[in-house]
Amino acid sequence: MKTMTDCIFCKIVCGEIPATEVARSKRVVAFRDVNPQAPSHLVVVPTRHVADLGSFAEIADDGEIAELLRTAAQLGRRVGPGGYRVVANEGADGGQTVFHLHLHVLAGRHLTWPPG
Ligand code: 5GP
Ligand code: ZN
Repeated sequence: MKTMTDCIFCKIVCGEIPATEVARSKRVVAFRDVNPQAPSHLVVVPTRHVADLGSFAEIADDGEIAELLRTAAQLGRRVGPGGYRVVANEGADGGQTVFHLHLHVLAGRHLTWPPG
């Protein structure tokens, strides 16, 4: 598995940093966000280190992309039966702060649009 030694999400994937996991497979892990922006706030990550969504789209095969998105959708329906939001932030203007691709899954309150 490709990991980055200084990447916080790689450390969560390998168990070096604790997190509340809600799903795990060979290719995808999901856990609770440490600073939740909604009553339910999960992050869904590929187990291998990939910096962002654009890089993932370039290198991942369709099965891996599908599994990441499917996991987010299944968890979204589970934690947000009334609705949920999936977000991927990329780059400085996108508001990305952790450079290991993750899909945010937000639910549990009415989410307004547009985001900030
Ligand atoms: P970004 O700003 O890159 O889209 O999202 C990064 C997310 O990772 C933030 O929502 C932040 O709260 C979360 N996060 C940062 N460090 C940790 C950590 O150590 N554990 C967990 N569970 N989430 C983290
Ligand atoms: Zn990583």
